[in-house]
Amino acid sequence: MLIDAHCHLDFPDFDADREAVIERSRAAGVCHFVVPGTSYKRWPNVLALGERDDISVCLGLHPYFIDEHCDTDVEALEEGLDANPGVVAVGECGIDARFEESWDAQWHYFDAQLKVAKSRELPVVIHCVHANDKVAKRLRQLALPAGGLIHAFAGSPEQARKFLDLGFVVGLGGAVTHERAKRLQRAVKSLPDDGYVLETDSPDMPLAGHRDERNEPARVAEVCRVVARLRGQASAEVAARSYATSRRLFQLAI
Ligand SMILES: [Zn+2]
Repeated sequence: MLIDAHCHLDFPDFDADREAVIERSRAAGVCHFVVPGTSYKRWPNVLALGERDDISVCLGLHPYFIDEHCDTDVEALEEGLDANPGVVAVGECGIDARFEESWDAQWHYFDAQLKVAKSRELPVVIHCVHANDKVAKRLRQLALPAGGLIHAFAGSPEQARKFLDLGFVVGLGGAVTHERAKRLQRAVKSLPDDGYVLETDSPDMPLAGHRDERNEPARVAEVCRVVARLRGQASAEVAARSYATSRRLFQLAI
């Protein structure tokens, strides 16, 4: 059994065939999905999915949608967490260094959300692109009690180690399937059995061989096979370890 620890099933990309996508995932052995929040406007769709037994949800403000966020959204996050005690984490939030022009605003919202996660002792789901060292430094300063997930990790073995030492786990997705990702593949081999979860980031992050296609949670099974091959373990072992780690991290009631 597999969990897709990070997928955006609420996105409009799935509006036409969401049920079929979930059915296909189930046929591929994926029994649970963790769906992060990305912007205030989209939270109602995320929370609606969270009504299902096979979906757990998070609330957060994603750096990609920085232009949509405003300060009252942070208050709304607090209210949303109060009103929805089943929400399993704060996120997706973080820093994406590809969008240099919004660097200060990204840190403003990221920091605010880290503080919310800290005060509520919730894990945090972090989007971190070309900013691993700066984000790790901030996480060390804040010492978050429930840790979290560095989703779609793409760094080095040393960077992974730093996050693990801070009580975080790393999310392994489509990036590990790409032949050229040698540094990341070294990191995958170096991880302890309880240091990672499997994810797809659907509809984004296509796997090798699926360029320009919409990604789907069913493909977490393929990620699992690649991670198992890299680590010299059976797929069933990797599936079981990542399942247990997702459950522990998000305190999933499954
Ligand atoms: Zn995401």
